[in-house]
Amino acid sequence: SNIPKIVILGAGYGGVLTALRLQKELNYNEADVTLVNKHDYHYFTTHLHMPAAGTDKTENARVSISKLIDEFKIDFVKSTVVQIRTQDKKVILEDGTLSYDYLVIGLGGEPETFGIPGMLEYAMNIRSINSVRLIREHIEYQFARFKREPHRTDYLTFVVGGAGFTGIEFVGELADRLPELCKQNDVDPSLVKLYNIEAAPTALPGFDPELVEYAMQVLTKKGVTFKIGCPIKECTPDGVIVGDNEEIKAATVIWAAGVRGNRLIEEAGIEVMRGRVKVDESLRAPGHENIYVVGDNSLMFNPEGRPYPPTAQIAMQQGVVCAHNLVASIRNQPLKKFEFKNKGTVASLGKGEAIGLAFGKKYKGGVAALLKKAIDIRYLYIIGGIPLVVKKGKFL
Ligand code: FAD
Ligand code: NAD
Repeated sequence: SNIPKIVILGAGYGGVLTALRLQKELNYNEADVTLVNKHDYHYFTTHLHMPAAGTDKTENARVSISKLIDEFKIDFVKSTVVQIRTQDKKVILEDGTLSYDYLVIGLGGEPETFGIPGMLEYAMNIRSINSVRLIREHIEYQFARFKREPHRTDYLTFVVGGAGFTGIEFVGELADRLPELCKQNDVDPSLVKLYNIEAAPTALPGFDPELVEYAMQVLTKKGVTFKIGCPIKECTPDGVIVGDNEEIKAATVIWAAGVRGNRLIEEAGIEVMRGRVKVDESLRAPGHENIYVVGDNSLMFNPEGRPYPPTAQIAMQQGVVCAHNLVASIRNQPLKKFEFKNKGTVASLGKGEAIGLAFGKKYKGGVAALLKKAIDIRYLYIIGGIPLVVKKGKFL
């Protein structure tokens, strides 16, 4: 048929928003839309620090894709993309091939290890449902192991690399969970160590210094030991080597020190910087009029020339504009320019505590924690309406 084919790779924040908007804006038979994702569920990356630490159920961090999209309007294919072939407009899946006229790439980021020895092999990452299941089980297992080998205090030492928002949110949750695990396993809490190790001269580099200080106070009180200005140089089976060759023996190392784009994009010959595509103002890849890139796979600069950080917030806004521009292309109408509207940043510090900058104001403590909850609920409402809010929104 002559109906244009749109293929969306990845059902993350960018891919789902693109699909939902296309489903709303396209007329009957105006395009064939296919959404491809590794899993048959969409997960809330922004929630993953909780199931990783074991302070919330994994189920609350995901929703089945069939509950989000209208499968009469969008074909969903559960498969893993293995190659993007721009020369013949094909996407190779682990179990098949798709051809496209328009492609949307929203495969999300991968952990950036900066080539640090041992990091890929020995550290875990907060990236997906499967990766956080592993972290949670691993942490619980260390307590059981320690009961059998009580001289091994390294089983009770937890290292989190990077004090960006991911590292900070995770140590907040883990600091809440560790005392519970001590109680359940009859372990003396004074034997447990939780380190958050940051290379830059401050935690949350670039964020409001007053809020950073507040966050560090709250977390320190909960038992987190910060090592700031102290790069992790190596990860080994026994722990990490930091700063001036100091060794910290730890059976658990979580690497939360950065994201890069997806390797499939550079392998496709599309120009990238650290795996991210410097898209044009309409969100297209340079030299590829028919390829759009959204979310962590894209790279955009603010008017001062600094890159926007890769967030769910920007991925969602890009999804909306990407869908608009796909429809406009098909209808031969002019494309829209993407302009990021920063709604602010709120980061949780564990139960009942958070910090945030929004509406030009600073928030901390319980008020910020409520704001965080409101943001989470708003997202559930945007993608799944009231039913999803009722099902996954935590009200207590
Ligand atoms: P993702 O959401 O990562 O989705 C990518 C999708 O592609 C996934 O479904 C994946 O399964 C799929 N996929 C990957 N590879 C393949 C393949 N080869 N084949 C098929 N499918 C594939 N941002 C905020 O704005 N606010 C927050 O509060 C916030 N909190 C965060 C908390 C944590 C713990 C973390 C880790 C991140 C947080 N972020 C937050 C950042 C935000 O989660 C990301 O920027 C966002 O998820 C990017 O969306 P995306 O659509 O690019 O990709
Ligand atoms: P990041 O890149 O923002 O932070 C990584 C941190 O690790 C940096 O502070 C960096 O200096 C540090 N680091 C790098 N190398 C190191 C080393 N060798 N040793 C020790 N520390 C090292 O990554 P992130 O925290 O995963 O965040 C990724 C994106 O997701 C960001 O855009 C962030 O804004 C967003 N995010 C937002 C929220 C929120 O809004 N609540 C939560 C999580 C993530």
